[in-house]
Formats: sequence, C-alpha cells, structure tokens
Amino acid sequence: MSAVLTIDGAQGEGGGQILRSSLALSMVTGRPVRIERIRAGRKKSGLMRQHLTAVRAAQRVSSAHVTGDAIGSAEVTFEPGPVEGGDFQFSIGTAGSTTLVLQAILPALVLAERPSTVVLEGGTHNPFAPPFDFLARTFLPVLSRMGPSVVATLERPGFFPAGGGRIRVEVEPVSRLRPVSLEQRGDIVRRAATATVANLSPSIADRELKMVARKLNWPPKHLEVRELRDTPGPGNILTIDVESTSVCEVFTGFGELRRPAEDVANQAIRQCRDYLKSEAPVGEYLADQLLLPMAIAGSGSFRTTRLTRHATTHIDLIRMFLDCRVETDETKRGDVFVGVC
Ligand code: ATP
Repeated sequence: MSAVLTIDGAQGEGGGQILRSSLALSMVTGRPVRIERIRAGRKKSGLMRQHLTAVRAAQRVSSAHVTGDAIGSAEVTFEPGPVEGGDFQFSIGTAGSTTLVLQAILPALVLAERPSTVVLEGGTHNPFAPPFDFLARTFLPVLSRMGPSVVATLERPGFFPAGGGRIRVEVEPVSRLRPVSLEQRGDIVRRAATATVANLSPSIADRELKMVARKLNWPPKHLEVRELRDTPGPGNILTIDVESTSVCEVFTGFGELRRPAEDVANQAIRQCRDYLKSEAPVGEYLADQLLLPMAIAGSGSFRTTRLTRHATTHIDLIRMFLDCRVETDETKRGDVFVGVC
C-alpha cells in the first residue's frame, strides 16, 4: 500500500474544496490521505453537514476505511478501496449543497468499473456553490466531452435555506478520461435569462428581468419567468446563460430574505458582463472545477477570464497527488491560459 499523504486543509483558500478534491483524488489514485486542519480558513471550521456527507459518500463509493467522520471534526483519514460503481443515495439532512457532495465522488465514478446512479438530497440552489443549472448546463457537458456520459436531473428543487431538493445523476464510466482543449470561445449561439421564483411573487422575477433587459440590452425573447409552487420553502434565483460553440456558461444571482431583486439581478449581470468583455471561453467557476478532471486526464488546456484563489489552491493540491504539470500564463488580453501536461 502506498504511503499516507498528509494534506493541510488550511492551505490557500482553506475551505471545503480542499477536502472534497482530496477525497476525489485519493479514490482516483488509490492513495490514502490524512486531511488536517479541515476548513481552518472558515469562521466555523471543521466538517459541516455537507462536508460530512461528502466524506460518507466517498466512503460508500470506495468502501474506504475512514476515521474522524463527525460533525466539527478537523481531521479525517481516508483509505479507499476499489470504486466499482452502482446505485447510491445520500441525504445531507440540511440545505447543504448536493452539487458539492457530488464533486467529491464524481471523478471516481466516471472511472468506475460499471455505471452508477446517484440520488442526492439537500440543497440544489445554494449561494457559494454550483446551482443545479450550472452543473447540468456548464460543467457536465464539458466533462462528457472527456468521454463519460453524465446526465443530471433535477427531481425536486431545494432552495437555501429550506433545502429538501433532490437530484439524480446517471454515470456511464470510461476507463480513461480524454483530454479536451477549451481555448477559443467561438460564436455565441444562445442567450437566456431565467428568473425563477418558488412560492414567491412573480413580480420579483419581473424586476430581475427588467434589470437584465436594461443592463445587458437583451430583447424579451431572451427573458423568461419560471414559477414553482411545490418546493419545500421559498426561493429565487436568476440564471443567465451565454452559450457559445465551445461552452455554455451559467451566471447566477441568488435571492435571499430582504435582498432586493435588483441586487440579485446585478450579481448575475456583473459576472455576465465581465465574461462578455473577455474572449475567454471558461468563466472563473468552471475554471476551478475543470482543473481536477483535466489533471486526471493527464493533459488538456483552457483559457479563462481569471484565476481565483480556489483555482490556485486546486492547482497546488493536484500537484501533490498527480505527476502532472499545470502551467498558467496571463495573456496579453488579460485572461489566463491554463495548460495541463
Ligand atoms: P466552505 O464552507 O468551506 O467555504 P464549501 O464547501 O462551501 O466551503 P468552497 O471550498 O468555497 O466550498 O467551494 C465552492 C465551490 O463552489 C467551488 O468549486 C466554486 O467553483 C463553486 N461555486 C461557487 N459559486 C458558484 C457559482 N455561482 N456557480 C458555479 N459554481 C460556483
């Protein structure tokens, strides 16, 4: 058995991503890990419900031997077994993000011996996490270009803070991930702004779309209100899709109690404007999430609008597990080229 790799969870960004990616890389490489000082960079450090569910999900998927899997725990040891695939169901028990739990297990499942179905219950649209729409329309189509088929269905939306959502993910694995290159954006082929209100007044959605129309100068054919009635709690998000021939980017504004609709709209509009100003195909969230599968594939490249601290922390972590080079280079246009080899 290979030696245990010790990961400092306080390094760089110091959040939950270090834990999830360490679990993912441990399962993919078979290397046991000890993750110390988990989420030390956060006000409430240690394992929260979402992170604990990620540890337990990774344990189930790889029949791992685990210690330290308890709420508040600052240290976890994880010794994975083989990843065979199969049917799994994980419930976070709070509004914790289902898409973040998926981040921990998906890299292993796309390389498993047989197909998997994963049902995850919790939040599906949480601030500071990929909303379901980003997972389904931005991340998974790029991952699928690397070979596996991964299809996600939103069975029940669960907005923060009530949660109660459910997603289903069907995975057809491959034996190796194929490298992809996302260096040119190409032409924009679709634009869509969708304001969703769940158990809230549609006037909120109207105000958000008015802002989109004004600030992005988009005509009504690109704007849509979606009203949901049967969700466990209230919720509101605005998603703005910009689909080019290379990628569909989804920018999100998250509604919150007492947050004006105009603020929610501006959150998504600002990201969308920054993206449209640049020519890079990959936005900042996709950049940090793409690094892991690309490094597992062993090569690939992309151009992104900017590299966040999440992304640079991810690069440092990947280098600890995999024998690959990740090069980053700021281009003359102000965006960043990332190459994995
Ligand atoms: P912590 O509570 O420790 O901050 P966390 O477990 O909630 O951590 P982070 O470590 O902050 O998670 O990682 C957040 C992840 O969510 C990153 O992969 C980031 O790309 C992604 N993310 C955040 N906001 C969005 C968004 N609007 N669209 C897409 N992805 C997002």
